[in-house]
Amino acid sequence: MNICKTISEFRQYRHSAAGKVIFVPTMGALHEGHGSLVRMARRLAGPDGIVAASIFVNPTQFGPHEDFHKYPRHIEQDLANLTAWDADVVFCPSAEEIYPPGHVTSIDPGELGTVLEGAIRPGHFRGVCTVVAKLLGIVEPAAMILGQKDFQQQLILKHMVRDLNMPVEIITAPTLREPDGLAMSSRNRYLTPDQRARAGSIYQALSWATHQYKSGERDAAALEAGMSERITQSGLEAQYALACHAETLEVYHQTVGNPCVFLIAAKLGTTRLIDNVVHS
Ligand code: AMP
Repeated sequence: MNICKTISEFRQYRHSAAGKVIFVPTMGALHEGHGSLVRMARRLAGPDGIVAASIFVNPTQFGPHEDFHKYPRHIEQDLANLTAWDADVVFCPSAEEIYPPGHVTSIDPGELGTVLEGAIRPGHFRGVCTVVAKLLGIVEPAAMILGQKDFQQQLILKHMVRDLNMPVEIITAPTLREPDGLAMSSRNRYLTPDQRARAGSIYQALSWATHQYKSGERDAAALEAGMSERITQSGLEAQYALACHAETLEVYHQTVGNPCVFLIAAKLGTTRLIDNVVHS
């Protein structure tokens, strides 16, 4: 696997290699959830295409009191995993390479960036859009694979590439889970054994809502209260547990319509976890 730390190294590699590029952007601390995206990229690229990943803990998407400095960094293990998952190249730049002195431009994701995660993490999606736009300009992939786990993120990035006429297809890959249903996440490693044992309640709440929805329940308040109850009973702090329109993210206030996404954000101590399930 080729390792490129600078933009010029990556561009050199990119322009000497033939075949379409399938791209998986990450912040590292890789787990099997990332692995499922890289393996999907391999299948889509075929033997002649190029599977490119990036590892970059993007400072501009973290708020001043968030976990940027303590975000897990395990570059050697990450490189071994990417090799095992059959990636061809990884772009792992420094912060200065991506944001050199004098960098001033950023991308405003509009209204969608101000709700849910954007309301709790002001500026987060501006940082996400800006870094992904830069990565797309460097990597020039035919397709980029994103995880459904970050539902709002993949939706906002789909709008960004459409609105800015970026020639890339975005593919959303399903969420990989632990045996108890907890969505795999780099942040799961912050959990103490006791917190980890309780974290499965997020998926239990989503599964309960799914079951209710499939049985015909459409009362938004009942579904939201039921989800919140299940999380708080396990000792988590529910930040939101909502039924939203799966394309606009508008909250269903009375009757849950179609398409629908149940979205949960919850805190266990200082660790924030998010998850969702979609029904269409
Ligand atoms: P991150 O490193 O957390 O920024 O995630 C990089 C990409 O992996 C994003 O597109 C995530 O949505 C995706 N991802 C993270 N966790 C999972 C998971 N459990 N299953 C599938 N994709 C995931």
